[in-house]
Amino acid sequence: MAEILKGNVVAARIKEEMKNKIKKIEEEGGIKPTIGIVRLGSNPSDISYEKSIIKNCDDIGIKSIVFEKDTSMSTEELVNFINWLNNNDDISGILLFRPLPKHIDEEIIRQNIAPSKDVDCMHPLNLEKIFEGNLDGFVPATPWAAMEILLHNNIELEGKNVVIVNRSMVVGKPLAMMLLEKNATVTICHSRTKKLEEITRNADIVITALGKPKFFSREYFTEKSIVIDVGVSTTEDGKLSGDVDYENVVDLVDKITPVPGGVGSVTTTILLNQVVNACK
Ligand code: NAP
Repeated sequence: MAEILKGNVVAARIKEEMKNKIKKIEEEGGIKPTIGIVRLGSNPSDISYEKSIIKNCDDIGIKSIVFEKDTSMSTEELVNFINWLNNNDDISGILLFRPLPKHIDEEIIRQNIAPSKDVDCMHPLNLEKIFEGNLDGFVPATPWAAMEILLHNNIELEGKNVVIVNRSMVVGKPLAMMLLEKNATVTICHSRTKKLEEITRNADIVITALGKPKFFSREYFTEKSIVIDVGVSTTEDGKLSGDVDYENVVDLVDKITPVPGGVGSVTTTILLNQVVNACK
């Protein structure tokens, strides 16, 4: 039976660190860390994510303000609103829910978020820092959540063969840079990769982010595999599932993250930690 790498333990540790940082900010007379959440329309998944962020903010001592906007707003109107948030001293960090409506030019929006309030790491300058190996600024929450799980569990990365199955800018590419910074040897796989099973079986650590429920069967792993499952999707019977066929893999591999309860339970905490850092 594999060791289960649970996210809530990691999230709890980071939350405690955040509470201490907030206390220190208060003692020094600083403002209360505040996240400005910008939501266009009322997409149910945005609303559910928003509720979870607000609950976490309340638990930790972060103020949250939701700005609900109409989906019909133009790129220019959204830029003007983002600029208003950039110049608003009461807002420490800005979170803009994506994907944006198709008529909005996301590239222009990304360029206009103040890098110092860009807690979701949208601005090209913040992304560039990661590609330069600088992990001290804002980082994209999902790949850093995967990293936190590895680091918290003292899983050695130096010289290890790590395979990431995802090449997006939200997960795979920044994650590869973070792992390189920790001296891992990184392979990025994607939908055109040949002999994926062979590649994952030869890895020390496999990180999956496909969004395809139970895609990775036992054949992709060995008893030495450490498996980090970033994928979240629903099966035909409506249950939440990761990319890995967890029930059939858990007795084979060395270590594995569950879904739910793994990477996803750390992501929001990482985002909020950056709101506190932005406030500092
Ligand atoms: P994405 O852009 O759709 O990326 C999916 C990746 O999987 C692509 O690189 C794709 O390859 C690859 N892929 C698809 N089918 C494949 C196959 N049969 N074999 C090998 N590779 C395959 O999605 P994303 O935005 O990066 O997000 C990925 C998943 O992460 C989401 O579906 C979601 O479940 C999860 N996610 C989790 C969290 C969290 O907090 N846990 C947060 C965000 C996202 P190509 O590039 O060739 O198409």
